[in-house]
Amino acid sequence: MIKVTIYNEGEHEKTSEAVRSVYPDGIHNCLKAALESDDVVITTVTLDTIEELTEEALAATDVLIWWGHMAHNKVPDEIAKRVQTAVLEGMGVIFLHSGHHSKPFKLLMGTSCNLTWREDGDQELVWVCNPAHPIAQGIDRFIKLDHEETYGEPFGIPEPDELVFIGNFEGGEVFRAGCCYRREYGKVFYFQPGHETFPTYKNPDVIKVIKNAIYWAAPIYRKKLDCPHVKKPLEA
Ligand code: ZN
Repeated sequence: MIKVTIYNEGEHEKTSEAVRSVYPDGIHNCLKAALESDDVVITTVTLDTIEELTEEALAATDVLIWWGHMAHNKVPDEIAKRVQTAVLEGMGVIFLHSGHHSKPFKLLMGTSCNLTWREDGDQELVWVCNPAHPIAQGIDRFIKLDHEETYGEPFGIPEPDELVFIGNFEGGEVFRAGCCYRREYGKVFYFQPGHETFPTYKNPDVIKVIKNAIYWAAPIYRKKLDCPHVKKPLEA
C-alpha cells in the first residue's frame, strides 16, 4: 500500500468561477478521485489545513504531490524545510505545474526555477523522450493537450538526472516537462501540465503519468539524516 498526500493550495477555487467550473471540488479532490486505487491510499491537505503537514504526517507519507500557484508565499518556511528534509530522508515528491515556484521545490533544486510563460491556451504536445522510463509506461509517443498554459525555456533548474518528457507548444516554445531528480534518499519528479483553468487533470494520460510517478517515487529506503562519528574504521 502506497500512502500519498496531496497538497493543493486551493485558493483559485475560492475566488475564480472559471476554476470552480473545471474543478468544482478542488484540484486535490479531482486528483484524489483519479489516482486512488486498491494499492494507493490518498489524503489531502490545502493551505487552510497546511499545519497538518507535520513531521509525523510526512514520515507516514510515501509520496507527496504538490500543486500551488498564487499562495506560495503563504506556505510557512518551516513547513517547506520540513518537506525538503522528508525528501532527503527518503519520501518521494511530485511537483505539478506552477509548483515549480513553490518553496519546497526551490529548496530541493537550489536554483531560481524561473521560466518563460504565456497564457494563450495553446495546444501542447507532451513528447515522451525516454520511452524506457518507468514514468512513461503506457504513454504513446506524446500526450495531446488541447489547451495548456505555455511554459518555455530557459527553465532555471539543475540538469535533470533523467528527462522523461519535453513539451512542445503551438507557438513554438519547448519545455522540459517531465524531470526526475534524486536528492539524498528521496526521489523528485516535476511534471509541467496542469493549469487551473484547463481540465488537464481529467486527461487519462496525464493521470497515468502521475500514477506511474507515484510508483517510481515511492521510497525503498528511509532513514533520519545523520553524520556518525566512529573511532575505528570497522567499528559498527
Ligand atoms: Zn498555470
